[in-house]
Amino acid sequence: MSWDDAKTFDGPLDELAYGSRLIGQDPGLVLHGGGNTSVKDTVSDLTGAPVDVLYVKGSGWDLASIEPAGFAPLRLDRLRALLTVAQLSDRQMMNELRCALLDATAPDPSVETLLHALLPHKAVLHSHADVIVTLTNTPDGESLIRKLHGDRVVVVPYVMPGFLLARACASLYAAAAHHGTIGMVLLNHGLFTFGATTKDAYHRHRQLVGEAEEFLQAAVHSRPATRPTPEPVRLVEPVELAELRAAVSTLAGTPMIVSQHSDDTIQSFVEHPELASIASRGPATPDHVIRTKRVPLVGRDLNTYAEEYRAYFAEHAGERDLTMLDPAPRVILDPAFGMLTVGGTAKDADIAYDIYAHTITVIERAEAIGGYRALPPGDLFDLEYWELEQAKLKRGTTSGPLTGEVALVTGAASGIGRACAEALRHRGASVIGLDLTPTETSPDYLGMQADVTDPDAVAQALDQGVRRFGGIDIVIPSAGVFPATKPIAELDPDTWRRTLAVNTDSVATLFRQAHPFLTKAPRGGRVVVIASKNVAAPGPGAAAYSASKAALTQLARVAALEWAPDNIRVNLVHPDAVFDTGLWTEEILTQRARHYGMTVEQYKRRNLLGREITSADVATVVAELCTDTFAATTGAHIPVDGGNDRVI
Ligand code: ZN
Repeated sequence: MSWDDAKTFDGPLDELAYGSRLIGQDPGLVLHGGGNTSVKDTVSDLTGAPVDVLYVKGSGWDLASIEPAGFAPLRLDRLRALLTVAQLSDRQMMNELRCALLDATAPDPSVETLLHALLPHKAVLHSHADVIVTLTNTPDGESLIRKLHGDRVVVVPYVMPGFLLARACASLYAAAAHHGTIGMVLLNHGLFTFGATTKDAYHRHRQLVGEAEEFLQAAVHSRPATRPTPEPVRLVEPVELAELRAAVSTLAGTPMIVSQHSDDTIQSFVEHPELASIASRGPATPDHVIRTKRVPLVGRDLNTYAEEYRAYFAEHAGERDLTMLDPAPRVILDPAFGMLTVGGTAKDADIAYDIYAHTITVIERAEAIGGYRALPPGDLFDLEYWELEQAKLKRGTTSGPLTGEVALVTGAASGIGRACAEALRHRGASVIGLDLTPTETSPDYLGMQADVTDPDAVAQALDQGVRRFGGIDIVIPSAGVFPATKPIAELDPDTWRRTLAVNTDSVATLFRQAHPFLTKAPRGGRVVVIASKNVAAPGPGAAAYSASKAALTQLARVAALEWAPDNIRVNLVHPDAVFDTGLWTEEILTQRARHYGMTVEQYKRRNLLGREITSADVATVVAELCTDTFAATTGAHIPVDGGNDRVI
């Protein structure tokens, strides 16, 4: 996407938001919270007095989708005064920044606010452009940049972001800048460009990045290709992946999502003869460290990785009062696994993937022009343990009782199944949803079209689900049919068989297929079976349905007995009269109500409590049964029917 010259703006802030989205949507420039932008303007305050203001990106906003409300307005005079102070702790700096806001409800200003404030130009754009970090993560990086961009840029050696970097840039900029200066290259970090408008700064960004890309392409192509041809992919069985995820989760101290990725670029990288060396030098730009850790695990030796992480912590924490983060890797590179990315949520695992997929290209291209060289571990440690970076991770992440866990739900496109999928996701779980009807997929939901009575289709769905999330901790068989009411004397054998095939046989098959994964669930496996009130209180005309649910109930009871030693809990819910499902139309409801001489409202509430039972009521019980509230419960039967005098 490039600048649309026909576009008009409602002031400099609106133009900044547009330009920020343009660079934010280019993954070669900005990935997940990297980069920040600003514009300076003069506004009138409430008293009518003019105030010079810096609008800078607010924390928690992504440049790819930022709106004017995502920029924090600050008093520029105050920011510039702060730059004259010799020392400022992080806490003091963030306090001063908040106190300099013109709007108390604005988001926290970027940690790079003071750097934006010191530059005299109105508009400033900062990215971690892949090409700039590729060039500057090589032994000749600095001279390459000077040769390419000449004195149009001020070159800044690596300094930890925050107040110290702002101070360093202030003196380097003052010493080196002239009227032709259009940007600053921060070695091992990224690029700043500036101008009188965001449009100017944007074109300068594109210009400098374009020149670097042109140089890099020529340099890389002038060398013989060193990339080995990948072996045909022979990825491990999903059950091995689930085993590895269990071990990763143990190290992390909490269930983790592990996603498997494989394509030609990844395979040739993980089969690179120098993999252990090139992958162990560090990230392309320091703030990636909070997403990928300093280095990936090469191979499968998690224990050695964790030992090395502990040693790295001990060495660099020194006397500082820091708490060690978990020592589990966030990226795992192995020829048979491809690339695995790890996160507390599926979204975090996806972010680690996006970042490392770019890192692979950065490493390979830097290797082609003199060798990839990242910052020393001490600098990366400082960023990994920087309170302001860790705050970025915490912002916007809400964790529930099932965060990091994976649930498989059948019949997930409608009714009780869909409500269960929603309730589980609401509690933090990632969900693999199977249904005959396709459903859309999102980071924490993998929708798959499969007929539960087809064992091969289910096996394939399980396989894909495990490769997406790393395992299966929870199984909710919810797919079911309720055939038309028929007395036994008129029973159609096909309907009978079909009802048992969907409601009973498919669950037996699913149990058999899911068991190897449930045994590897980091916090123990859980199964909740959607049975029916009909098990205890069958209805005339519902022989096939009642029999299928009774058999299903026995199956689940036996599973509870057999699987308790595997730390798998199996519980049952018995719903009744849940009318907000696909089975019930207004017409059928009216008919049934008339049959009992009731209004539809009375019919829906004909239970002891006199309340209507919804899919969400059932799903809440199902999801709670999967939490630790019921850690000591297996083999339980819980009615969700408003109370039934035939059952009680
Ligand atoms: Zn940066």
